[in-house]
Amino acid sequence: MLVRISKYYDSVSLVTGEIQMHRHSRKRKAVADDCHISYADVCFAVHATLDQETVPAEPESRGPGDTGESSGHALALGVVLPRMMQLIDVLSNEVDQHVDCLDLDWDPILPPDSKQGLPQPSDSPQQNVDGQPQGDSLLSWLLGGSDQIERLFAICTAAQEVLESQPVVPEVSVPAKVFGDLHGQLRDLLLFFCFYGCPGQESREWANVSYVFNGDWVDRGRHQLEVVVVLLALKLVFPARVWLTRGNHEDMEQNRKTSREGGLGFDKACAMHFGPRGPEVFQAFYKCFDWLPLAASIGGRALVLHGGLGDGSWTLDMLRSVQRPIVSAELVTALDGVVYNVIWSDPLQADPASPVDTFGVHTSARAKHKTTMKAFGRDVTQTFCARENLALIIRSHQFKRSGKGYEVMHDGLLMRVFSARNYMGRHQNDGGVLLLGWAEGTPDTLLVRPQVIERRFKRGPSAGAGQRDDLAEPYCPQEHLMREFQPCRPNPSLGCLTSLRSRKEKEEEVIGCGECKISDSSDAEAIRFFYCRVCSYYLCSPCALKSAHAVAAPMQRAAGSEDAEPSESSESSETPELCDLSEQGDDSVAMLQL
Ligand SMILES: [Zn+2]
Ligand SMILES: [Zn+2]
Ligand SMILES: [Zn+2]
Repeated sequence: MLVRISKYYDSVSLVTGEIQMHRHSRKRKAVADDCHISYADVCFAVHATLDQETVPAEPESRGPGDTGESSGHALALGVVLPRMMQLIDVLSNEVDQHVDCLDLDWDPILPPDSKQGLPQPSDSPQQNVDGQPQGDSLLSWLLGGSDQIERLFAICTAAQEVLESQPVVPEVSVPAKVFGDLHGQLRDLLLFFCFYGCPGQESREWANVSYVFNGDWVDRGRHQLEVVVVLLALKLVFPARVWLTRGNHEDMEQNRKTSREGGLGFDKACAMHFGPRGPEVFQAFYKCFDWLPLAASIGGRALVLHGGLGDGSWTLDMLRSVQRPIVSAELVTALDGVVYNVIWSDPLQADPASPVDTFGVHTSARAKHKTTMKAFGRDVTQTFCARENLALIIRSHQFKRSGKGYEVMHDGLLMRVFSARNYMGRHQNDGGVLLLGWAEGTPDTLLVRPQVIERRFKRGPSAGAGQRDDLAEPYCPQEHLMREFQPCRPNPSLGCLTSLRSRKEKEEEVIGCGECKISDSSDAEAIRFFYCRVCSYYLCSPCALKSAHAVAAPMQRAAGSEDAEPSESSESSETPELCDLSEQGDDSVAMLQL
């Protein structure tokens, strides 16, 4: 096995402003029910990165002919990135003062000494649909000049040149970080930079980290233009370290559709900021976007793409041969629908109880079961990975309400990552990114560790914090994530799958804790049991709690807050929330409990 997933993830609570380490959890919707793998209890071999280069990443110089003050590269290096760093400082102060808000409500107080560079309001200030001033001063400030449009054109042109010079499926060096959907939520992007590092600002141990931004930067969120400007500037300054892969929203037609349906599409965002010149700016971005890579390969073992594998019948070499630029109308037809599925398709969660529906290739509920867009089962992922010699597919494109911003699926061969927290300002989800590095001790193994920024809780986040830690599922001795065992409570009216399974298992096995040997017999109503399906191993809740504290306590700075949950967490059935709500239709697929 060449890729392993860390037993732990890191999580930032903006209430405490601290990073804590947590175990994965099925209940927190971070591990799909179809997934039974051994998690790795090893650290990153961080010193390996020091061998390669002992200084933090410096901006990479570009070729000749790129020296002008107004060139896109010079603007990125001299204006946009320094201002981004200032913005991170502003954000860092907010964190210190325990100020948290949605990106939607974010009007940062910009550093006064830099405001001198602000353009005059003559640059067509626009109003949004509610008549409120749009947060355009932030974009103006990031670009740092009154000739905003010319500056944007310069950045787009320079970024396009870089994209044209690089492959459709670039090779990304390790260590690497993968960001999922951002949808214009600039504050969340900068929070990740603030807590977990950003290009050019890594610690010595984590110098030279590559960054993959896996599409869907635009549409819906308030700061789409700012997000894209920051990402393009990063691409310009670190062309071999920052990678941008195309999402289904980096598509003009999808932007317009978002606007038509009442959302803030990227076309509308451009028009709101630039007035009559909005369409011109919109087109300029697309001259660049049409050259975006469609996937990225990390260390030759993990493949990052926005949507999924579609029917999985294609090869990476086929994708590498796709001709760019790919304009909107060609996204559907390119490679006979393969490209469309790379940016649009979704995985199915395997359910052995209904194999016909959850294995193999199906039409997608997202496209109301029209033929091009597919949904793919675990077997498709397995076959594709085996044929392409891959150990992991990383995709984005979907979030889960009250989920963690990442999810392990398809027996660990597929991970989902979604970075916008409190998506659209109204959903309750954490944001996540994935960190990939070489594992300590087994230098040929890639280790994946999720890094999370917790959602902003509507209610007090302290409710229940620290008291319900026993609810996080333990690992069995083979490091499989266990799940809470539902003992058979006879209920003649419910012939549900869960109780049938439990009854069957109970008939065959004696339920007894593998640690203290207590059995699930009599009085112990308060004792619950956890079960490992792979090992048929049980653990009682007191023993599970003990083992959790023994492992996690020395590394935690405070009582775990991972169990502070908003009200939505109590919902009993999981419904996958498609990031493209407009495509969802009525027939959203309910994930079945095994
Ligand atoms: Zn998407
Ligand atoms: Zn026990
Ligand atoms: Zn096990």
